[in-house]
Amino acid sequence: MNRLLLRQLKRATQLEGEAAVERLLAELKLRARTESFPSDMNRFLLGVGELLERVSASYDHHERDVELHSLSLALSSEELEAAQRELLRLSRSDRMTQLWNRGYWQERLQEEFQRARRFGQPVSLLIFDIDHFKRINDQYGHPVGDQVICLVADVLRTCSRQVDICARYGGEEFAAILPGTNEDGAFHFGESLRLKTEALGFSAGEQAVPFTISIGVAELDDSFPDAGNWLVRADHALYDAKRSGRNRTCRSSQSPR
Ligand code: GH3
Ligand code: MG
Ligand code: MG
Repeated sequence: MNRLLLRQLKRATQLEGEAAVERLLAELKLRARTESFPSDMNRFLLGVGELLERVSASYDHHERDVELHSLSLALSSEELEAAQRELLRLSRSDRMTQLWNRGYWQERLQEEFQRARRFGQPVSLLIFDIDHFKRINDQYGHPVGDQVICLVADVLRTCSRQVDICARYGGEEFAAILPGTNEDGAFHFGESLRLKTEALGFSAGEQAVPFTISIGVAELDDSFPDAGNWLVRADHALYDAKRSGRNRTCRSSQSPR
């Protein structure tokens, strides 16, 4: 009987680990010796009951610990995912303007080209460049040039819709993919960017110095063999805008081919 109880107690305390089991067994043996075991079996069983209660309370405590640990593990995997998302965003962003960078934008260009081909939705491309930017750098210094780039990025960000994919294409050139927008829509978007930029100016000391942008737009059409050709068409339109006097928006459909 004594052995049977000891075995049961040992099994009940299995989850507590070896040290705790040994401690409990030693205590039990001590009780059995000092409490005239086996004649006073009731007292002995009472003692065993108490011990089991203590073991079970301690088990509950450990269970809570395990729950807390799992919770903190779940939390850290959420944090890890957030960190991964942030890293991905950083690898796709332009550091100065927080717009998308050229590499990521080109990936999106391929995707939007394929999507438009598959679903037949209109989609337009807009590419623009700050006029006479070298003069701004030369006259006011590179830090002011950088500020102007950031101002233009802000105009693009505030004028664009959630679905538009806007990037700093490089230097003082910007590009945007406008899903669901035909050439007329892209032209109007270009004009509103242009007018807002012209009205803005950058501050040099006391005065606001105006500056302008030139824009080319191209709606994707069936004759474009690939996304690269679509970009070339928009670039030609931008070139037309520069050549015809700057501070204007030109359409690819009106470009001589
Ligand atoms: P255009 O009207 O024909 O566009 O004339 P532009 O002077 O703007 O000509 P261009 O595009 O050749 O000049 C771009 C200049 O932008 C040259 C380069 O030194 C400068 N640039 C490129 N990246 C940065 C930048 O991150 N910050 C600053 N401040 N300048 C830059
Ligand atoms: Mg340029
Ligand atoms: Mg320029």
